[in-house]
Amino acid sequence: MQLHLHHLNANLMHIHKENYFQIVKHAEAKKAILVAVSKTKPVEAIRELYEMGHRDFGENYVQELIEKQAALPADIRWHFIGHLQSNKVKYIAPFVHLIHGIDSFKLLKEVNRQAGKHNRIIDVLLQMHIAEEETKFGLDEGELDELVNMKHELHELRNTRIVGLMGMASYSDDENLLRSEFKNLKALFGKYAEHRTPNLRLQTLSMGMSSDYKVALEEGSNMIRIGSLLFGSR
Ligand SMILES: *Cc1c(COP(=O)(O)O)cnc(C)c1O
Repeated sequence: MQLHLHHLNANLMHIHKENYFQIVKHAEAKKAILVAVSKTKPVEAIRELYEMGHRDFGENYVQELIEKQAALPADIRWHFIGHLQSNKVKYIAPFVHLIHGIDSFKLLKEVNRQAGKHNRIIDVLLQMHIAEEETKFGLDEGELDELVNMKHELHELRNTRIVGLMGMASYSDDENLLRSEFKNLKALFGKYAEHRTPNLRLQTLSMGMSSDYKVALEEGSNMIRIGSLLFGSR
């Protein structure tokens, strides 16, 4: 009987608990928030981590996010970390906690418009392009400068706040390359750290995933987005 139960429990285990505790320890040492990236993983896996006290979860796909949000406790803080299309903002606007991937003024305006419909203020991060690869989304430094300096236009957006920057390093195991990309993002973050308007105040620096979060934390990240180390590979 004992053995049988043991097996049953093993089958129900979705979370790599050892990894979770270790990552939490690393994150806490740097006062960083851990976003558990649950894309493609079942609701039960999220619930398991939720019951351990975790509240910040990240998803990449709108349809998947709205289904999970409806099925899970209301006090989960949902982070949208994927590429967001303007015509889909409306589906997540009622509940999303933080949108990490804003890469145009057009998208920002749409977030503001949808947030207004729900009488909410939605916090967002601007996604910066820091990797070598051409395929990754995001703004370059010139586009960031331009956006930050659209003071009047930004002022009009009363239902959204730019609270930080997000970036993804190259898909590489060259630590020096990763480190220099994270340094570049941290420098952009620093460039506007003192810049404060009612809806632009950079506080959150979202960088670091399963394979590179330790380097990211060393380089100043205060929000890491971890999937496979917690939930297993996809
Ligand atoms: C999937 C994803 C993650 C998590 O990736 P892992 O390598 O599984 O930790 C983090 N950030 C973004 C933007 C992602 O799409």
